[in-house]
Amino acid sequence: MKKTITTKRQGTTISASEHALVYSIVPKDLAGHLYQVTLDIATPDEAGQVVSLPAWIPGSYMVREFARNIVQIKASSDGKKVALKKLDKHSWQAAPCKGPLRISYEVYAWDLSVRAAHLDQSHGFFNGTSVFLSVHGQEMNPHVVDIQRADDAACKTWRVATALPELKARRYGFGTYIAANYDALIDHPVEMGDFALATFDAHGISHDFVVTGKVPNMDMDRIIADVKKICETQIAFFEPRSKKAPMDRYVFMTMVVGEGYGGLEHRASTALICNRNDLPVKHQPEMSDAYRGFLGLCSHEYFHTWNVKRIKPAAFAHYNLRQENYTSLLWIFEGFTSYYDDLMLVRAGVIDEAAYFKLLAKTVNMVTRGSGRTKQSVAESSFDAWTKYYRQDENSPNAIVSYYTKGSLVALGLDLTIRAETAGKKSLDDVMRAMWQKFGRDFYERSLTGKQQGLAETEFESVVEQATGVNVRRFLDKHARGTEDVPLAKLYADFAVLVNEGTANKKASLGVRVVRDGNDCKIANAHEGRAAHLAGLSAQDVLVAINGLRVTAADAGDSLSAALGRYRVGETVQVHAFRRDELLNVSAKLQTDDVPAVSITVQATAKTGSVARPSFQRLVKNK
Ligand code: ZN
Repeated sequence: MKKTITTKRQGTTISASEHALVYSIVPKDLAGHLYQVTLDIATPDEAGQVVSLPAWIPGSYMVREFARNIVQIKASSDGKKVALKKLDKHSWQAAPCKGPLRISYEVYAWDLSVRAAHLDQSHGFFNGTSVFLSVHGQEMNPHVVDIQRADDAACKTWRVATALPELKARRYGFGTYIAANYDALIDHPVEMGDFALATFDAHGISHDFVVTGKVPNMDMDRIIADVKKICETQIAFFEPRSKKAPMDRYVFMTMVVGEGYGGLEHRASTALICNRNDLPVKHQPEMSDAYRGFLGLCSHEYFHTWNVKRIKPAAFAHYNLRQENYTSLLWIFEGFTSYYDDLMLVRAGVIDEAAYFKLLAKTVNMVTRGSGRTKQSVAESSFDAWTKYYRQDENSPNAIVSYYTKGSLVALGLDLTIRAETAGKKSLDDVMRAMWQKFGRDFYERSLTGKQQGLAETEFESVVEQATGVNVRRFLDKHARGTEDVPLAKLYADFAVLVNEGTANKKASLGVRVVRDGNDCKIANAHEGRAAHLAGLSAQDVLVAINGLRVTAADAGDSLSAALGRYRVGETVQVHAFRRDELLNVSAKLQTDDVPAVSITVQATAKTGSVARPSFQRLVKNK
């Protein structure tokens, strides 16, 4: 194939030369959830070509060993069988041959998440990390993919949504697509099915909004009107003068289910999963909490187009897809993104200031609930993401802190500190734009020659100082590398924003989170130092009775408040519970309900002499 195409995204020509690796993928068995993949290597390594599948997908920091879903794999050259030797859990080596080499395999795709691959009669979705073997030594060659329609009546009307550039395909059609290299190939997920589709323009860039799944009376016009405002606000945030987006088109692909939530960022698209009821209904104009949350998810993943897909920690500038890639900076890449996701909603005018502060108060309350925040810093939480944040268990609230939620409070604390110390002249916005200019703007252009750079582990405070003149080392020692809470009430005081600590809930509590388990009420987490823990109860114990009265699954719904509503703080109750099949009988002294919930409000008038108040208005209004 000699046809060439140009993408503005890479700023350079991607040419499907004779060195291109050519994949074909077809949904072979919808009910059996199998993709058939063929990989043609024109000039394999004559010493024996090695191929492998990634162990993890960038953006989701856990080793998932995608190669376990390869069902059968074989190799041939000019129609003759070539032996394949398995080297380890995700690699194979073909016997030496002069080429061309063809490798064929099936991939089992039954993971309905944004991280892997899924296929049935209703649709197909895949990330390249689940289906495309990398060809060692040829990762920088162009990669061509022929996405084929299944030979199944169910797929007759299917279309294809992906931000992969088309080589020989119509937009939304089956056919061949091309990626500049392997890294680009696996950064463009593909959705196929009878999806709903709407297109809008944001600062000159075409954006597709794709929705898969049944959503009666979905108000697509409202979704794209809101998402367009968010996209334009973010493009203008990073490039205030040129308003130039870093991609030449963008695709939001949304899978709608009964119960599910999540998103994964890519350089020119995002894969989202949400509840049916998160999406707005025609002729119901009110803003529900669920829809606000969905817009926050869109805003979050879109912000990653800059922060983590182009501004990256140095550890991610060249991924090692075979194993964990450690960085202590995810609080910048996920935490700052979490800070800006809601802030961008209010700056875009999609939500108002009061709604923003409600969301912020919720984040503060989530962070202060767990005692894990006193033991693990967000820097440590970032480093251990692979084994702790992504592999949470019943003890996680007592042991770890979220680099998302606490990271977003660190971002807010830094923003307020910078604004206060520069009398409102500088802010965290300047830091983000400085990182964008230094690392992000030409990341993929540089990556074509292997010269891309990321933020080094100890570089952040010097970037802040250069951008704003403010030294934040002590702040970071305490709140990012240390475990101290971010003193929001103190920091916000300069800005005439009140953080009301609230009064502790006087309701009697066992200090547990309970969940429904069939007809039972089961302890999901026993909070450290609280009544249940002190009485000897623990996570996974099934509550049977309190003072001789039965506890059932219905009590899980309102966190035991009906079962405990007749008791006062300080009273002792007898609790019967099953641990496995053994009955326990313990005395528990009831305590007050968990930590006091804060609320955040803006004072009607600024304090006299408050230099920071105008800056605060810029914080939320971006003016
Ligand atoms: Zn994120």
